[in-house]
Amino acid sequence: MLETTHQSHVLDLPGGRATNIAVRRSNRARRIILRVVETEPGIELVVPKRVALREALEFAGEKSAWVAARLAERPPSVAFVPGALLPHISGELTLVPRAGTVRDAERTGALLVITGPEHAFSASVGRWLIEDARAAIRPQANRMAREIGHKLRRIRIGDPATRWGSCSSTGTLSFSWRLVMAPAEVLEYVVAHEVAHLAELNHGKRFWSTVDLLVDDTAAPRQWLRTNGAKLRRYGEPRAR
Ligand SMILES: [Zn+2]
Repeated sequence: MLETTHQSHVLDLPGGRATNIAVRRSNRARRIILRVVETEPGIELVVPKRVALREALEFAGEKSAWVAARLAERPPSVAFVPGALLPHISGELTLVPRAGTVRDAERTGALLVITGPEHAFSASVGRWLIEDARAAIRPQANRMAREIGHKLRRIRIGDPATRWGSCSSTGTLSFSWRLVMAPAEVLEYVVAHEVAHLAELNHGKRFWSTVDLLVDDTAAPRQWLRTNGAKLRRYGEPRAR
């Protein structure tokens, strides 16, 4: 069932500024909720079915100082432009343009060299990161699946809004390409977590002991994602909604 429809509205902020907020109609919500979300534009207004949009927007207007404070706390976004620094499992990468007509992306040490027209720069970086994430994740996932006596079906690399990975009931594992910007042990933990779901499609005791077979530590990577996850979602093109 499609529960939500998204819309964007402009909210006036103190000091004469303004921001977009996402507005979501909800059949389930009991009251108007204004909250911080990782996706753009960073603030979401949830409007219960029976509440008029005008009333919800008034509610948000009363909370504009709170909204301004939350937006100020957001980590700055980093566009994929020449000179930008990207965190990477191997350390840090600097984005470097190179003149040329054939589109290409190639890593040389700590440089990610992007060839092609200027307007394609950001998309080329994005494509390289997706392939790089696949190359980092696939062999680990295969090895871990073998270790627990399961066979991998499919691996999908995408950009889910809130999850780092998931496992479907048919055994397809999905991962966020953004994990390639996390420390290696964090990526390894997320792979182990999803591979363990091939054996246990739940978060019970047996599931966690399977994860423990595959990686040394789970607490530190989980904590890392809680602390730094929002930052990883601020790289590249802002996610539209
Ligand atoms: Zn899980």
